[in-house]
Amino acid sequence: MTSTIRTSTIRRATGTLALLIVALWSISAFAQGSVQGSPPAMVQRKIADDVYTMEHPLGLSNSTFVVTPDGVLVFDADIRTGDQVMAAIRRTTDKKVKYLVISHPSGDHATGAWYFREDRPLIIGTRKQMRDLYMQERAEFDERKASNDPRFAVYKGKDLVGPDMGFDGALTLQFGGLTFQITEEGSAHSTSDVTMYVPQRRVFMMGDLLDTEIHPGQGESAMVFFSNAKNWIAMLDRIIARRLPVDTYIPGHGPVHIGRGVADLEEQRRYFVVMRDEVSKMIMAGKTVEQVQAEFKVPQEFAHYQSPGRLKSFLNLFYHQLLERGFWP
Ligand SMILES: [Zn+2]
Repeated sequence: MTSTIRTSTIRRATGTLALLIVALWSISAFAQGSVQGSPPAMVQRKIADDVYTMEHPLGLSNSTFVVTPDGVLVFDADIRTGDQVMAAIRRTTDKKVKYLVISHPSGDHATGAWYFREDRPLIIGTRKQMRDLYMQERAEFDERKASNDPRFAVYKGKDLVGPDMGFDGALTLQFGGLTFQITEEGSAHSTSDVTMYVPQRRVFMMGDLLDTEIHPGQGESAMVFFSNAKNWIAMLDRIIARRLPVDTYIPGHGPVHIGRGVADLEEQRRYFVVMRDEVSKMIMAGKTVEQVQAEFKVPQEFAHYQSPGRLKSFLNLFYHQLLERGFWP
């Protein structure tokens, strides 16, 4: 009996330690915007016919690819994990990558095009994304490439490959018998957030406008932060109001909830509304930003979300945007 107790105690302790290590790894990866050593393997998940998401088990960015008889379209790729996406495409089909679409101009979504160069895909982004990538992200990419810091080893010998084609507003692509509705939703998480809807497959790619089971990050390009919490709520409202026949909204980070539909968007919206209301109350009670960060209690519904470190920096943003905009309703 005693030995059973001891064994289970040791098991529990080992389990807790393992969880702690995973949590610390995850927090440090996000805090530094980079991964030390090799990132863990992504998981390939089939979301609908011909639609696959490469899901990151620790909450780094996801990539999605759609296979058609005429070739493959990829949505988002990260220089740190794009090799895994390319390997999965090669395992899944003999078709070439024909298009790459970017959700927003952050390093974890817009830097992986280099891995697809052999297939010479057309890379599509918005004009604003092009500007951000060329003016900010490229400088950071080149800096990391030139650095001897082992955290940036993955950048060695690679280049930031930017969009070939820039658009404003919306773009409809007919490709391989499918319709790809590519929409510049505006500026909420980043300066130019793009979604992609494939009606025939009832899937909708959200980029970082949706994160599941993880605290959302602030849109960032070369350490310049853009997220606007008010716009984010309004943008989710607009997408929900379309009432599209969508089975699955694919998140930029976190697990894909296949078949959960609009409930994922509603949860994300509730998250921002609750944060806004709680932080407003704390400001009214005279709290400083440091006090808000130290005392903020995550509501039960979101208690299981990963990466609390991201919440801390987001609270700073909420605090200042609430002050600056006069406690928007
Ligand atoms: Zn991201």
